[in-house]
Amino acid sequence: MRTREDLKKNLGRIDGKGYKAYKDIQGAYDFGEFSVSVDYVQGDPFASPSRVRVKVPQKKAQFPAETYQNKSREIALRDFLTRLFFKASQKFCRKSRGTGKSGMISIDAPGQEVLKRTSVFVCDSYVEARFIMGLPAFGRRIAGFHAQSMFFEELPKIVQHSLLFQNVAHQELYKHIQVSEDADSLRNQLEEKGLVAFVADQAVLPRKSGIDPRPLTQGRVVPFQSPDTLRISLETPNAGVLRGMGLPKGVTLVVGGGYHGKSTLLRALEMGIYNHIPGDGREYVVTNPGSVKIRAEDGRRIEKVDILPFISQLPFGETTREFSTEEASGSTSQAANTIEALEVGAKLLLIDEDTSATNFMIRDHRMQELVSKDKEPITPFIDKIRQLYQDRDVSTILVIGGSGDYFDVADYVICMMEYKPYDLTSQAKNIAEKYKAERKKEGGERFGKITERIPLSRSFNPRKGKKDVKIRCKGVHSILFGTHRIDLSAVEQLVDISQTRAIGDAIYYSLRYMDGKRTLQEVVELVFRDIQKKGLDVLSPRPVGDYATFQKLDLAAAINRLRTFKARQEK
Ligand code: ADP
Ligand code: MG
Repeated sequence: MRTREDLKKNLGRIDGKGYKAYKDIQGAYDFGEFSVSVDYVQGDPFASPSRVRVKVPQKKAQFPAETYQNKSREIALRDFLTRLFFKASQKFCRKSRGTGKSGMISIDAPGQEVLKRTSVFVCDSYVEARFIMGLPAFGRRIAGFHAQSMFFEELPKIVQHSLLFQNVAHQELYKHIQVSEDADSLRNQLEEKGLVAFVADQAVLPRKSGIDPRPLTQGRVVPFQSPDTLRISLETPNAGVLRGMGLPKGVTLVVGGGYHGKSTLLRALEMGIYNHIPGDGREYVVTNPGSVKIRAEDGRRIEKVDILPFISQLPFGETTREFSTEEASGSTSQAANTIEALEVGAKLLLIDEDTSATNFMIRDHRMQELVSKDKEPITPFIDKIRQLYQDRDVSTILVIGGSGDYFDVADYVICMMEYKPYDLTSQAKNIAEKYKAERKKEGGERFGKITERIPLSRSFNPRKGKKDVKIRCKGVHSILFGTHRIDLSAVEQLVDISQTRAIGDAIYYSLRYMDGKRTLQEVVELVFRDIQKKGLDVLSPRPVGDYATFQKLDLAAAINRLRTFKARQEK
């Protein structure tokens, strides 16, 4: 391995030369207390910044084994160190040192969630951080001496302040890993206790704003209080016994007046597949990891989905056993979103009337009288929701303030009043008894078959211009796959652009398993088997620091939304 002196000399030598000469510094260097590896050198000062790693031996870093002794702790520690590195880079990096991204040192910046990431790794022998540097230039002339300051003054300070145990705030660090460990423990208990979600008493669910996911602190914030009838106690390894609302499997309605906190509760449950940072308010809100938010998404494309359980005969006799469209309606998109989620193993559907197609959710008695069943292709969700649970063990939590017909099919009815939940199950059942719904059931006896599809690899083309593979993401909800844009704005559980980046590359990676025989579910499983075994690194030919973990359902959702996607049904 070359030494830091080699790098210093090299940077001095190329000062003032054309930008391409930076390619010479690619490689690994021994800096004494840590090593630096320049994995990728950018092509010009405006291009994506260069990728660099530092490795600090544990002899120097000295993180006690207990801070990463199990998966929960390890992921939380790595998340914590990423945040520290980010803060330190903000503090110590001078940033503007010339043209374009010159002078920048940065790392992935986590939000409210604690996600498994490739930004920092910790093991018994070292701590590794992966970050980016904008190698400095004036115009296209290398600013070698500025680069020296970045490598030999700023970087060591950043490493000092973020990757050495002795210099990090111990109390904060332990809190971070303990909270995550507790959340994982709660989530792991759900299944055996027959629950799909747990919301701890005192949790703070509302957010600052629709675009700011930090907890609401202004004005009156009502902490969560479970209704007594649903209150349970769960043990955690660090926080002791936590009390809160345990939502059992089955069909749960969340009702209540407008603006009383229904959607806020559902949103917190959607995010309950992730762990949260201390102070978020939702640290102890957990849901079944197979949860999926289902919504209407008119305009999306659909490829050969068997939506027969919800929609039969369309106008002009068009079949729905193998339904494709370039532009779905509200109801057909919601039907396809549901079936596609079931196809890859969803266990809990989270639905909000705010984002649902009315005609998918309900058809009341009067409408049944006016438009007879043989003229209406849609079997509304109300007539399928119980079968989903009975036939397929798929639970639903549904926010619906607008239709009491659902009382007939619910196991639990929770009413939000001034941001507090009340268990009104028996009242709702009494009302349903007293005022019999006159509507006819239209859903038949069984949910119906989920027809699996086999994805065809030739329908994916990652090529763009001269590049064989060009996959980029533009924000959390958009992937450019070759020349095609995948719109993920309806995939609402995605929270971090690094997830999106990983999904984009996972689509490409998944092509190796599409052999014309495997189903979409099998392909997704194989991709996840590899990620499980070898980490998110399998998705990239070189080490990158900006991947974050995602759900199987997200990968399938992205594939389903690629507009060139072709599949054939498994017969
Ligand atoms: P709904 O879906 O019942 O119409 P929302 O969940 O959208 O209501 O909430 C309405 C408003 O109340 C939002 O601005 C939300 O941030 C706020 N809110 C929700 N829960 C709470 C709470 N527990 N304390 C204070 N404000 C809350
Ligand atoms: Mg709402």
